[in-house]
Amino acid sequence: MTDAPILRVDGLGKAYGRRIACRDICFDLWPGEVLAVVGESGSGKTTLLNCLGGLIAADAGTVRYTRRGGGEIDLATAGEAERRAILRAEWGFVRQNPRDGLRFGVSAGANVGEPLMAIGSRHFGKIRSTASEWLEAVEIDAHRIDDLPSGFSGGMQQRLQIARNLVTHPSIVLMDEPTGGLDVSVQAKLLDLIRRLVRENGVSAIVVTHDLGVARLLADRMLVMKEGEVVESGLTDQLLDDPQAAYTQLLVSSVLTV
Ligand code: ADP
Ligand code: MG
Repeated sequence: MTDAPILRVDGLGKAYGRRIACRDICFDLWPGEVLAVVGESGSGKTTLLNCLGGLIAADAGTVRYTRRGGGEIDLATAGEAERRAILRAEWGFVRQNPRDGLRFGVSAGANVGEPLMAIGSRHFGKIRSTASEWLEAVEIDAHRIDDLPSGFSGGMQQRLQIARNLVTHPSIVLMDEPTGGLDVSVQAKLLDLIRRLVRENGVSAIVVTHDLGVARLLADRMLVMKEGEVVESGLTDQLLDDPQAAYTQLLVSSVLTV
């Protein structure tokens, strides 16, 4: 890790009408670090991630990102075109539902090749061979390169999303419940794959999950959210072994007793 965060989030907030979805969220993300955002359903995790990923506009706060070439930009106040270009080239976003993160009308290969074309690749043969390598990297048989994602199982669709989002070698990848809705055995394999690919590619990641087991397996550090606010943060092992906030203690003990 270098000596400066790649992302500095400060005072981030978002309300839907009078309902506050998240409030005063502050954290740093370091190069190569995996940060888990945990909390029960409705605690504001997806809203936070969608604000970071530019899907919705935050009402307050700054999202200062250190660009690949150096130089910091506040994505919360950047112009729309510039923000989109940066996110496309330097970030990935694995959505909770593959329907939101894949294009079901085009082949698996096109799903992986498109982000490359979006950042300027033009050589068809190279794009196809890179797509093929990435399918193999996420344990999808490269012979299925021309198949539509609709013929894939839920676990394969999530792996395809991961390939689509890592193929451009992003600096930061956001993942919203990447193993949610999958069978337990499929989840375990997918978690191993995510852990390996994130480490191998040196990418920084923010992983939203309601599952402390996912956080323990993937994350260096954790934020615990409750009703839109961060109630505790710290190194994953320390936080899970010795939770300080009453709410985190409750979360941890409820997992241990099931
Ligand atoms: P989580 O991902 O932790 O389950 P969300 O970020 O989806 O939580 O939701 C946080 C709160 O914001 C919830 O109370 C939810 O009902 C509300 N919320 C989320 N999205 C919307 C929306 N588009 N319109 C109105 N309220 C929303
Ligand atoms: Mg959510």
